[in-house]
Amino acid sequence: MMAADLIFHGGPVFGAEGADALTVRCGRIATVGSSAEMLRLKGPETVLVPLHGRAVLPGFFDAHTHFIRVGLEQTFYVELGTTSSLREALERLRSAAASRPEGWVVGRGWDESRWPEKRYLERGDLDRAVPRQPCYAMRVDGHMLAANTLALARCTCPDGEFVDRDLGHLREEAAWELARAARPDPDTLIEAVAAASRHAASLGVTAVADMAGPDDLTAYQTALRRGGLRTRVFLYLPADDLPALSALGMRRGFGSSLLTIQGVKAFADGSIGARTAALGEPYRGETGHGQLLTERTALAQRWRQVIEGGLQLAVHAIGDRAIVEVLAAARLAGVSPLDRHRIEHLELPAAAQLDEVASQGLVASMQPNFLQWSGPGRMYEDRLGRERDARIDPHAWAIERRIPLALGSDGMPMGPLYGIGLALDPPHPPQRLTLTDAVRAYTEGAAYAAFAERELGTIAPGKRADLVVLSGDPARQPWRELYVDLTFLAGERVYLRDDAP
Ligand SMILES: [Zn+2]
Repeated sequence: MMAADLIFHGGPVFGAEGADALTVRCGRIATVGSSAEMLRLKGPETVLVPLHGRAVLPGFFDAHTHFIRVGLEQTFYVELGTTSSLREALERLRSAAASRPEGWVVGRGWDESRWPEKRYLERGDLDRAVPRQPCYAMRVDGHMLAANTLALARCTCPDGEFVDRDLGHLREEAAWELARAARPDPDTLIEAVAAASRHAASLGVTAVADMAGPDDLTAYQTALRRGGLRTRVFLYLPADDLPALSALGMRRGFGSSLLTIQGVKAFADGSIGARTAALGEPYRGETGHGQLLTERTALAQRWRQVIEGGLQLAVHAIGDRAIVEVLAAARLAGVSPLDRHRIEHLELPAAAQLDEVASQGLVASMQPNFLQWSGPGRMYEDRLGRERDARIDPHAWAIERRIPLALGSDGMPMGPLYGIGLALDPPHPPQRLTLTDAVRAYTEGAAYAAFAERELGTIAPGKRADLVVLSGDPARQPWRELYVDLTFLAGERVYLRDDAP
């Protein structure tokens, strides 16, 4: 009999009916069963983890995030997501500019729907707050930014639907181009990987699907070599990298147990907050329908290249008109359910579109965090009206149709406890998920979406010992009262809450 490295005992094991203990050996789950049985595997070196009734769950797998951005929010960006007014956002930018008098001042995460001013940041605001340095501030959705005059001077995109120089507003490609121009130096990016990893561990996240930016791969590799990467990262690189990946013959699954290339990400439309999500009917009280960023033929062609390259496509589609194009492109490209291609967000599908997502075997990669903008008086209702708001982010309809559902955060903010809380108690009750379905979608479902379900996502012998211990038992205690007490990656403790027992 081989002694265990670790024994968790005395608390419910998620997904293992009746079990209250498990053992870990060599970074993997060895056995699952009763405490009495498991404690027999104790040897002189075994570390015991008494649960005292707390639940142990598979490590959370955030199925859609922007990991380095999450790290930069901890280290580099001026955080604007928690501001309660436009005036406060400007104040934060002003004081950041004063404390680092050279180079870019980059704010992130503002959300005018939370501010009494109820309007976007504008060039004039930023010129007053940050007069001497280039400064931009990205809206929370990442599809729109406001820039000051010095920053706008670096924008090479022509005026038009994505560029409004008077207001200093850049959207979609124009916004991302400026963000690339203001990209932090390589060391800052490497530090951001480590910061994101620490932050993820504190939230119980042991794996992520990362919708990565250009050059992120280099930062990841260096962070991995230096030991700063302690989260399993499954990469979806920008679609522009597809020719390079194909030229190298880089196929899905290339990499290591911590860093894997999965595929590429493409965009069918923008976001509801920036009014760039492509809708069948116009935005409420307006004539605009948003913007389709790719139509079916071009997307189908890209999709075929992805399939030929042995990669996975993750395609961003929020509005119903964008989802129509993605489904048509999938038919044209002849996608197979075996390839598990993913629709990211899938916020406003019609019922018939969901039926087709199911029949084509596509994965629904959804973010319950977005429900923070749904419900009476909130941003989605304002932009879309009550009827469309009531059918946004239809998690329960996806489950009913047996669509593979993978939940994630989009980094808004990162944190499965928060996201699952919204999925369990959505503003529109028909979309409520059961605890089991919600946790599964944030573990097993996300692993499935990254072809990692044999290694990750459930607590079973042979799986990686990526585990999280909550502060209580969600079957007995309201979800919103729970914390993450402990996080383990491959049987190694990567997080311990300060006042955990
Ligand atoms: Zn995203």
